Order: sequence, then C-alpha cells, then structure tokens
Amino acid sequence: MGQGRVQAEYERANPRSRALAAQARQVIPGGITHDIRFLKPFPIAVDRAKGTRKWTVDGQELIDYWMGHGSLFLGHGHPAIVAAVHAQLDRGTHYGACHELEVRWAEIVQDLVPSAQRVRFTASGTEATHLALRVARAFTGRPKIVKFEGHFHGWHDGVQAAVKPPYEAPSSAGIPGEALGQIVLCPPNDLKALEVLLRERQDVAAVILEPGGGASGTIPTDVGYLRGLRETTQRHQVVLIFDEVITGFRYAPGGVQGLTGVVPDVTALAKIVAGGLPGGAVVGRADILDRLAFNDDPAWNRQHKVAHAGTFNANPLSAAAGIAMLGEIRDGQAHGRANRAAAALRAGMAEAWRRVGAPGCVYGESSIFNWTLEAALTDGPKPGTPHRGLQAMANPAAYHALRCALILNGVDVCPLHGWVSAEHTDADVDRTVQAFEKALALIRDDGFLA
Ligand code: PMP
Repeated sequence: MGQGRVQAEYERANPRSRALAAQARQVIPGGITHDIRFLKPFPIAVDRAKGTRKWTVDGQELIDYWMGHGSLFLGHGHPAIVAAVHAQLDRGTHYGACHELEVRWAEIVQDLVPSAQRVRFTASGTEATHLALRVARAFTGRPKIVKFEGHFHGWHDGVQAAVKPPYEAPSSAGIPGEALGQIVLCPPNDLKALEVLLRERQDVAAVILEPGGGASGTIPTDVGYLRGLRETTQRHQVVLIFDEVITGFRYAPGGVQGLTGVVPDVTALAKIVAGGLPGGAVVGRADILDRLAFNDDPAWNRQHKVAHAGTFNANPLSAAAGIAMLGEIRDGQAHGRANRAAAALRAGMAEAWRRVGAPGCVYGESSIFNWTLEAALTDGPKPGTPHRGLQAMANPAAYHALRCALILNGVDVCPLHGWVSAEHTDADVDRTVQAFEKALALIRDDGFLA
C-alpha cells in the first residue's frame, strides 16, 4: 500500500498514537480490537470524548462521526445517560437476578418498536442476530437462512457469506463450510429472485436483511421492496427478520418498521437500544419469541425450547443507559435534528466532491452519510446500480489516505459511512464539509484519485 505526503504528515502529527499503536501490536493482534479500526499507517488513539467531539492522545480535537459505531445517537456523554449510569453504578452493576430496570427497558422497546410483542435482551448485535436465527429455525423446524449480498449481521459464523466483495468468498478465514452451507444467498432488491428461491425450496426458516439497505445503507433499498418482501415471506410462511441494529431507533423511534409500516416477524436490535453501553435485543411476535420461555412440560423444554444464556444480558448499567436513551428520543425530535444535519452534510459533501473533481459520490438516508471513491459511481447509486460496485473499495490505499487526511483536518469517520447524531450542529457540518474538501484535495495531490 503506497504512502504519500498525507500519511507522512499524519505520522508527524500523531506521535503518541503512533507509539501506542506500536506498543499495542506487541500484545493485541494487529494492535486493534475491531477490524474496522484498521488504518494505515496506524490508528489514532482517543483520550476522551464529549458531545460531537473526541480528543486524541496527541491533543487533537476531532468532530466524531463514528459515534460509538452508531450507538451514540445523542453524542458522547449525554447528561441524561451519564446521570442514569452514575446512579446505577452505586446500586450494583450485576445482580445475577431479575430486576426492575430490565422490565422497564423491555416495556419501552415494546412501546416503540412495532414488531416487539416480546423482548429478549442480549449483550451485542452479533448475539441478537445469532439468537434471532436460532429462534426462527426452532419455530419453523427448517435449517436454511436467506441472506442478501452485501448485508452485514455481525461476526458469528452463521452470517459470514457474501458480506463484502467479492461476495463469492467467505468474509473470514476459519468459517466451516457446514456453517456457510446453511446460508442461501440472494441478490438484494430483487423480489423475483427471492420468489423463485422460496418457491423452489422448502427448507428456508427465515429471510434476514438490513431494512435500511445492506451494510448500513451502502446498498440502498426502498419501501416498495420491503413491502414486497413482507408479502412474499408471509405467503411462503418464512420468518422475516429485520436486522435493525443500525436503523433501530435511528430512522425513527420505531426504526425502519416504524417509519415504513412494514412490520417483520422478528427484529434484531443493538447499539442505540443500550444507550451507548454494550447491549442488544431480539424482539418479535409473541408466538415466535415464546420459544425462549420455559413451560410446564419438561419434554418440551428439553426438545423444543430455544436455549439462551449470556452473563451480561440486560445488565443494570446497560439497562439504565438504554432507558435514559430511549426516553430522550421517543418523541422523534432528535431524529429531526439528526436527519437535517445529515442532509446538509450530504449536500455539502456532494458539492465538495464536485469542486475537487473526486470520483465517486455521497449518498444516504436518515442520519447516515455514505460515500464511495469508485469512478463508476460518480452519478450516485440508482435503482439497477450494480450493487457490487457500491462496496468495492477497489483502491484501499485511497480510503486509508482519505481517513488520515480527514483526521489531519479535524474529522474522524469510519470507512464508507458516518453516523450523524442529534447533537451535530450547523457549525459542525460546515467544518466537516471543509475538512472533506481539503482532505480530498490532499489525497488527489498525492495521486490517490488518479
Ligand atoms: N447487524 C448490523 C446491521 C450491524 O451494523 C452490526 C454492527 N455494526 C451488527 C449486526 C453487529 O452488532 P455488534 O457489533 O453489536 O455485535
């Protein structure tokens, strides 16, 4: 991977991050604890965060669009959430028992999310999709899961097919062929393909998708498709699972299902649901989710009940943070603020792209902005855009250089998309657009956009 002036300047500007990265690599494989944090020549290390900002160990202030991988819809350190967590800390962090907060938390989720007749908490989004698939298989008695190319559902073995291009290869080494063999792939946004597939096979338990579009909306979808999906799965008596780990509580207080009225059978939630602390949930139809409940028949419990454990499920700290978060966002006003800021940002960034003459485009919905540097996509994704191009990242060096250049200009954002919070201001948006323009020009001058 080439390294130009941008990355040399980045090295000079971040000596402490650089030293910490070298130290980290001696103990943590690759020096990172989540693959998406991989950055050439090294990732920044952050010292503290507040509101829309975070500060690196080298003292640089950054406008943050990682926002806790999308979980901090109200920014870092929102006073209501901090107060709730502080108060709970003194009362205990783990009771190994049922508690009032988990019930209250579940009731708020039930209230906000249309499909949530029942709520079972997990410790992450990965666990939520894992459990959702298990419940669907138990309910239908069928093994296979239909998954769409480019959709991401966490890192467990059961969903590692066709996550990123080239979709033909598993997204990771170490996944047994038997696990991949349980996944039936389908192209996204193609109802006919799904119809043919479900007509031909009788072994499908569930269809799972990101209803805002695959991998955080990088492959956009539309409401007509979602309606078609609902109708098709219903007709074939296949469980429809929305993975609303990103979109839940973001697209609307009730997620994509609240926004569109298309209600799945089961939903996986995480991120915002736990207020920025670890947590997730599987919610859905009572007759499906009640497969998790014990009943009076020991034989049924042994043979038909879905097993579910997890030390930190609904721990009181996450419950307190989740209740505070959902209480703050339930009236939808935060969504108005975040969506407006994101729309202004997308428009400003598109102008910056044009002024610099950068390849690719900026797009997105709700409070998410996506971009690509792929030359073939300069006009933006349209219906019929080959979805593989949308996640291609054909020249990874350019994406690394862009991130370094953005950090040098005071903005931190993950590859391909950013999450806008309800706290991002017009001034943040203006500064971000300027940062993108400067960063794009810098990497162009370094030869990365040729
Ligand atoms: N599903 C989707 C749509 C996600 O974006 C993610 C995480 N980004 C997950 C599942 C997995 O969630 P977690 O990282 O909490 O395991």
